[in-house]
Amino acid sequence: MRFSRAFIPTTKEAPSDAVLASHIFLTRAGFTSQVAAGLYNYLPLGKRVLKKIEQIVNEEMNKVGAQEVDLSFVTPADLWEESGRIEKFGKELLRFRDRKENLFVLGPTHEEMMVNLVRNRVTSYKQLPLNLYQIKTKFRDEARPRFGLMRGREFVMKDGYSFHATQEDLDREFEMMEAAYKRILVRLGLDFRVVEADSGAIGGSGSKEIMVIADSGEDTIAICDSCEYGANVETAERASRSEVPQAPESDFNKFSTPNVKSIEDLEAFFKVDAYYTMKCVAKKMHYEDGDQVVLFFLRGDDDLQEVKAVNAAEALEVEDVSEEELKALGLVPGFMGPLDMDKVPCVFDTSLKGATQMICGANEKDQHFVGVDMSVLDEALFADIYTAKEGDGCPHCEGKLLYKKGIEVGHIFKLGTTYSKPLKADFLNEKGQAEPLIMGTYGMGISRLIAATIEQHHDEKGCIWTKETAPYSVNIMVSNIKDEAQLAFGEKLYQQLQEVGVEVIIDDRKERFGFKMKDAELIGFPFTIIVGKELVNGNVQVLERATLEKRAVFAEKIFDDIMERL
Ligand code: ATP
Ligand code: MG
Repeated sequence: MRFSRAFIPTTKEAPSDAVLASHIFLTRAGFTSQVAAGLYNYLPLGKRVLKKIEQIVNEEMNKVGAQEVDLSFVTPADLWEESGRIEKFGKELLRFRDRKENLFVLGPTHEEMMVNLVRNRVTSYKQLPLNLYQIKTKFRDEARPRFGLMRGREFVMKDGYSFHATQEDLDREFEMMEAAYKRILVRLGLDFRVVEADSGAIGGSGSKEIMVIADSGEDTIAICDSCEYGANVETAERASRSEVPQAPESDFNKFSTPNVKSIEDLEAFFKVDAYYTMKCVAKKMHYEDGDQVVLFFLRGDDDLQEVKAVNAAEALEVEDVSEEELKALGLVPGFMGPLDMDKVPCVFDTSLKGATQMICGANEKDQHFVGVDMSVLDEALFADIYTAKEGDGCPHCEGKLLYKKGIEVGHIFKLGTTYSKPLKADFLNEKGQAEPLIMGTYGMGISRLIAATIEQHHDEKGCIWTKETAPYSVNIMVSNIKDEAQLAFGEKLYQQLQEVGVEVIIDDRKERFGFKMKDAELIGFPFTIIVGKELVNGNVQVLERATLEKRAVFAEKIFDDIMERL
């Protein structure tokens, strides 16, 4: 490509709402341009990067026998009615009617469409397993589209779906897909971690997220400092405490505790460790048939993990609740406790099971119970609802948990029969009996990967593309194009590199050296070969973008030198 002919509108101005480096640099360097909230154009450089990522994904999917398809973006709303997701997806689902008044949605993901394609076509165990995927535009009317390509409304996703006759076969495919996803991330040159993720009602180890490690990531992940364990903090576990603080000693009793409401107040008032106090977190849980306030009880030194709370209470969503709402239910904020609580449902963290010497609210203003023995509540609902903290013990080894920030670029999930059952996608097993297909789903954010790459690889000057994602590997910068020798040398090298298949761009613009240099750094080509004044002495310079290191190379050696580095 010739820079003089290329459409690469670089600018000094960053979008006014941009806070992330990737958003700023991808716009300033002319990779993408915003059309409206969450909608982006890909300019030639952006499109090249997108295609490169797609190519790697395609190659790795082909290797594991997944077959590419392309399903209609516009999806009949009927299918979403059938699966029951039309309500659950809420406003993220963009709905519209055609001229015949038929209702459609723009596909935000394609489980329904894929099941619809396969049902009545795959009817026997002999046709299984089957793994189909596509790389396609998705639309989600996100409540807060932001951070450029990171959270768009229109975005590109690789979505794959596998179909199996048995759970064991799904497990095998899931492992194979995890390995394929890891290979993709390694090829892209990204530092990442595969972590356990929330699998909602399905539970188990059936859900994993692929997280690119970056400080700007929206997700917090807990990873072990010595083994491979990693989990989204929404689901992270911890080892049970090996040492517990000294227990207070007191018989069961009601105590006057004027204005002692918080855990800190209790610690100070009773001079006990928060471990022996009981924290009560009230939340409003959403269910299909309405809202319900639920009380979640934990040890005072633990915090509620809302995703775990939603799962434990089998709710759809969780919301905060005001003191007024609690009072209206006859509850006493600041003094809520589990004993004789008959007003609203309660969930207890498992660390409270059989706990003794606990201090908890007495459901009366300014009153607490001490010396509470939790075994009286053995029949209550216990579940893990705590947040694993930094420094907690790893659940799998002697290590300690660390927090890191991650960008979710992929999500693989064992669906089981969640979609095949309602959509009646059955097959005949070996005994000739009809069973619903067992499914896995494998998503990857292709456009988000562009942003994630820059989040992980940039400096204050601009983008630093990795080997496999760079729009061009080599930029030949002719310092002064009026200098015939410089131009001739640059052109010859340009041809030589093109002939051997190197992706090369020649900066033949009539611009000042400094201006061209700024563009090269902003765009982030891995190598810029500067053909300048030193050419008369038989030298050119090579700038390596990642390190900003400049080296002089004999002009006659430059071809071999660069080929070696690529
Ligand atoms: P998030 O929690 O970030 O909203 P999600 O859980 O909704 O993601 P999935 O439904 O699992 O995401 O979609 C698969 C992949 O698609 C995600 O791992 C992510 O990489 C990508 N993705 C999801 N939403 C967006 C978006 N709004 N913009 C860009 N990529 C997205
Ligand atoms: Mg989402």
